[in-house]
Order: sequence, then C-alpha cells, then structure tokens
Amino acid sequence: MEQKYLIRTFGCQMNEHDSERIGGLLLSDGMSPTNDAADARVIVLNTCAIRENADNKLYGNLGHLKPLKDRRPDLKIVVAGCLAQKDQGLIQRKAPWVDVVIGTHALPNLLELLRRAEIEGPQMDVREYTETFPSALPAARADDVRAWVSVAVGCDNACTFCIVPLVRGPQRSRSIGEILAEVQDLASRGVTEVTLLGQNVNTYGRDLTVPGSARRPLFARLLREVDGVTGIRRIRFTSPHPHDFTSDVIDAMAGCEHVCEHIHFPLQSGSDRVLRAMRRSYRRERYLEWLARIRSAIPGVAVSTDIIVGFPGETERDFEDTLDVVGRATFDSAYTFQYSPRPGTRAATMEDQVPKDVVQERFDRLLTLQERVSLERNRAQVGRTFEVLVEGEGKRDGSTQARTRTNRIVHLAAPLQRGTFADVRVTAASAHHLTGEVVSVQEALVV
Ligand code: SF4
Repeated sequence: MEQKYLIRTFGCQMNEHDSERIGGLLLSDGMSPTNDAADARVIVLNTCAIRENADNKLYGNLGHLKPLKDRRPDLKIVVAGCLAQKDQGLIQRKAPWVDVVIGTHALPNLLELLRRAEIEGPQMDVREYTETFPSALPAARADDVRAWVSVAVGCDNACTFCIVPLVRGPQRSRSIGEILAEVQDLASRGVTEVTLLGQNVNTYGRDLTVPGSARRPLFARLLREVDGVTGIRRIRFTSPHPHDFTSDVIDAMAGCEHVCEHIHFPLQSGSDRVLRAMRRSYRRERYLEWLARIRSAIPGVAVSTDIIVGFPGETERDFEDTLDVVGRATFDSAYTFQYSPRPGTRAATMEDQVPKDVVQERFDRLLTLQERVSLERNRAQVGRTFEVLVEGEGKRDGSTQARTRTNRIVHLAAPLQRGTFADVRVTAASAHHLTGEVVSVQEALVV
C-alpha cells in the first residue's frame, strides 16, 4: 500500500519553502501527500521560532498526536525547522514519542534519519552545516504558477529581537549558476513568477566573494541574471535590509523588465534610540532618504514594511517618532507586530519591557494611521489600468483574485484561469485590496 505523509508548517516563507523541500524528499522516496493524520505514515511538524507562542503550538500539536502514535507505533513523527534547531534534545525529553528531530541545516539527511529511526529508535540531527545546501533538494511545489527560490539562508546581522542568526546560522549563499538552473527549470514547467528568498536577501553572495577580495554582495547581478531567464515574467524578493539596499540594487530593479515594482523595506521603528537598541544599523532620516531615492528611481513602486510596537524601553516619545515616520513614508502596506520576547534573543532579557496594555494602545493607534494611509494610496489607483496575474478563484462564485506587479490584490468579477495575465482597470479601492474590471486578457479565458 502506498505510504503517505502529512506536513504541517508554522511560520515564514522560508519555512514554507523548506516544507516544499521536505515534501520533495518524501515524494522521491515513493510516498504521497495526505491531509489526514490518520492516513499518514510520516507526520512532519515544520516549526518556527519567530512567531509568538511557537513552543505552545508545537507541544500542543505533539500532545494531540500522542494517542495516534500509541495506537500506531509504525507512525513516524518528525519535528523540523527553527524550534528543532533551537530546542534540540529538549523536544524528545518533553515528547519522547517524537521519532526524528531535524535542524534547519540537516534536511538532506531526513530519509536516512527516518530509516535509522525504524531500526534504532529516536534520532536527532541538528548539526550546523551539511554539504548539500537545502535548496538543492527536490521540491514538491505548492504552486505551479509562482515559486519561491531560496538564494541564501542564515544572517550575519544581530538584530536583538531576532532568533534567525541563532537558528539559521551565518549567511550561506547558493551559487548564481545553481539558482539560475533552478529558475530555468521552473520556467520550463510553466512557472512565470519567482520570489527570491533570503533572510537578508540583498546581501546575497557576500559570502561567495573570493577570500581576500572586498566582500561585496552579488544581489544586483543576480537580479539581472534572473531577469534574463526566458518565461519568467515577474521577479520578487524578500526580505531586504534597508542598510544593504545599495544603489546597484536600485539600478538593477529600475533596469530589469521583470523585477516587480514592489519593495518590502522593513522599518521596525521610527525612533533612533529604539533602532540603536534593536541593533538596526540605520537611522530614521537615513531611512527616509533611501526611500525617496528608491521612489525617484522606480516610478510607481509600492513599498511595504514591518513595524514592531512596544520594543523594550520604547517610550511614548519613541512611539510618536514611529508614527511620524509612518506618516511621512506613506507605506502602501505594513505588517505591524506587538513586541513579544523570543527566548534566546538579547531583547528578551532587556529591562523595561513595555506593559501589554500600553503596547496594545500604541498598536491600535499605529494601525488606524496605516489603514488611512493604505486607503489613500489604494484610492489613488482608481481609474488606472494595470497588468495582473491571476492567482485563483475569488470568494464569490465566478470571481477571481489577481495581483498587480506592485503586489496589490485585485478582485475581479470575471472567471479567469489561474496563471492568466490580464490588463484590468481599477474601479474601487479599500485599504487592503482593489476591485477591477478586465480590459483585455493576454492568455486564454476559461469559462
Ligand atoms: S537582518 Fe533580519 S534576519 Fe538578520 S538578524 Fe536582523 S531581523 Fe533577523
């Protein structure tokens, strides 16, 4: 009987992409996916240490799986991802029914660990480095039109709120040749949009430069090379660090036909004092200057950001500095987070943690301001025509959800097939999406 696997992913895009790799490995071993835990021979929990309550979520899930494991000892339970890397032996001490704990660097060894678990009992591999870069593994892609392509893992920075350097280690980049081969292969399978992934994506390649020579990132060159791959019509990337958003990257974005006019430009805080405490290497005025340069070089570019509210020691004055930058930057959208300590980070042990009710009150004020700005930015698009890529069905019968190059979601009343490119005129706007009507379809309309 065919054996099945189930993967549950908690976390960021890097985790989602790792899950595609895990799925690819299990597929290559003759297994097939299922959504039903009762059917699965292997269950993988791919964990995230970045999100709040990650531990509770993992141990809650493991608790639910225990009765299943008791009934079916042949079931193999795997814990992968950042929490596996961070908690290591603790996981099997707390949940001895876990068969394999596999760290973020050790994914290529998954099948071997499963085989060994069969014979020898619980296994753990959380070694820091492996010969095979995780993204050189086969992948079971969740989407046949858009794909993530990992270009680097790890990060050389030390932002005090972030667990990434601890769980993913220093930056390791893939070679340009390997990345291009993957993008070409994706294009040959009909993928038209790729998102280049790295924890600090614009320092891609800094670790590849010849020892002894200047350590220069190769991200601008990578963008130009990917831009030349036939069949790829949209290139996105995430997440860059403002400090590393150099002129050559801006020039490459402006000059590459297929690089989309959207930048995620994480602010984190508008207060210089808080930025210093976060160990972010830019300051508010510098950030706004870069933003102005980006906007003048790339007409129509949309900018999104990340903002943390209530970082330890944040005063009302600091928070007002954040509101001031948000008002001046006029972001198209923002991911706003209430600070909560991540065990293992420097910020978690800082004094002056801000009380929850104060964080909530500031968060609500920030959200109100950003919603107003997002709405204004979206309203300015009404009456204009954009190319969209159809991502799938909308919520209403016969409707469609699509996305502009600037990463705005557009709802359409027409039933267009996923993967279709169309030109649409924007007829209405809300803070989070646009509504549009189809002007022309570039590829087949399915009725
Ligand atoms: S640059 Fe990004 S990934 Fe690196 S430490 Fe800072 S927040 Fe974390």
